[in-house]
Amino acid sequence: AAGIVVAGAGQAGFQLAASLREGGFRDPITLVGDETALPYQRPPLSKAYLAGKTDAEGLFLRQPGFFAEHAIAHRPGIRAVAIDRAGRRLHLSDGQSLAYDHLVLATGARNRPLPVPGADFPNVRQLRGLADADALRTALGEARAIVVIGAGFIGLEFAAVAAARGLSVTVVEAADRPMARAVSPEIAQFFRSAHEAMGVRFAFGAGVTAVTGRDGRATGITLADGRELPADFILIGIGVLPNRELAAEAGLPAEDGVRVDAFLATPDPAMSAIGDCVRFPSPFAHGLSPDGTVRIESVQNAIDQGRCLAARLNGKPAAYGALPWFWSDQGPHKLQIAGLSGPGDTSVVRGSGPAFSVFRFRDGALSAVESVDRAADHMIARRLLAAGTRLTPEQAADPGFDLKALAM
Ligand code: FAD
Repeated sequence: AAGIVVAGAGQAGFQLAASLREGGFRDPITLVGDETALPYQRPPLSKAYLAGKTDAEGLFLRQPGFFAEHAIAHRPGIRAVAIDRAGRRLHLSDGQSLAYDHLVLATGARNRPLPVPGADFPNVRQLRGLADADALRTALGEARAIVVIGAGFIGLEFAAVAAARGLSVTVVEAADRPMARAVSPEIAQFFRSAHEAMGVRFAFGAGVTAVTGRDGRATGITLADGRELPADFILIGIGVLPNRELAAEAGLPAEDGVRVDAFLATPDPAMSAIGDCVRFPSPFAHGLSPDGTVRIESVQNAIDQGRCLAARLNGKPAAYGALPWFWSDQGPHKLQIAGLSGPGDTSVVRGSGPAFSVFRFRDGALSAVESVDRAADHMIARRLLAAGTRLTPEQAADPGFDLKALAM
């Protein structure tokens, strides 16, 4: 048998391979990845690894021996370039091709480029992979003032690490608050203040019109209102684009993500897709998009989709219905999110002082819970949301109401 070939050796692709073997899969498994490192976890790249608190060894999902022991052929430094669906072959950047019985796309996402002049100076940086993080660790050691474009999770985590090292940090954001698309105004306000307390400066409602430079290097940025912000380097963190081209070029539906059904299958019965590159129907996406599909960039989603698909390929099909959850560490604070919120969801704040949670409601039902330094709320929220337990806004707002008992 040709077995299973996986394009993309990141969080999702690795999980699929490991779970396939765990479930008793006996045919060959090949993981093709365009990065040179062993499969690794990305979250520390903007947290402990960036801050120099852990080394690359600490990022690897498994040690090298694991792959040989489990007969998983890892092919590092090789890019999948085209799919021959009729012949069931994956063409690779080294000129070779691999036959497959089933092909899994786990190609993740790449950073959205900043479409302004000067964005290609070498010190205009991004953070997606280990190589980016290594370059940034060095750059941080040599810089005094930096500009971060985009107040999303990665931009803010990066800003917190840089500010803790004593750098002058300005975060420029088009929206009027941080993490505007992802969290409630209440959480956004908390983190704005928390970052300001760490010494981070913000420019909200700010459009970047150009990166200015001299002698082949960026020296700062220009904003639409004419302001100039000097910087030794610039980090761009304005979101990601799904790596959907392999599927699209093979004639599969892939607008804003490789389209899969509830079983993570593409319309080609010999192809599935998982992780950041996928747009899929989610029971938690009700009211969020016209067709009930979402694309989720998280470790939870990559792992749970890898497991779900492995079960199907091992003969135990089930629709993917795992509850989305996420975390972000920014300076001393931990943000945890359970569920999926939308921009129109209402907020109920529970708790006061530095540790609190925001319960979000859509169409009268609990949609998500965002917790700051309240891990217990987060764990309860996961149970409530996964079980679809009914909670009213009044109950959430009542400090005397026993949430834990409700979740039992
Ligand atoms: P990836 O892990 O990106 O793996 C995809 C792999 O496929 C990559 O190695 C890519 O290079 C490779 N590839 C792409 N195209 C090809 C091709 N044609 N041929 C071969 N290989 C290819 N999530 C959280 O839940 N919490 C966090 O705190 C958090 N922090 C993060 C911090 C950073 C800096 C980053 C970048 C991400 C963070 N995430 C976090 C998101 C999380 O890491 C991703 O959601 C997760 O890695 C997705 O897994 P994936 O396998 O789909 O994609």
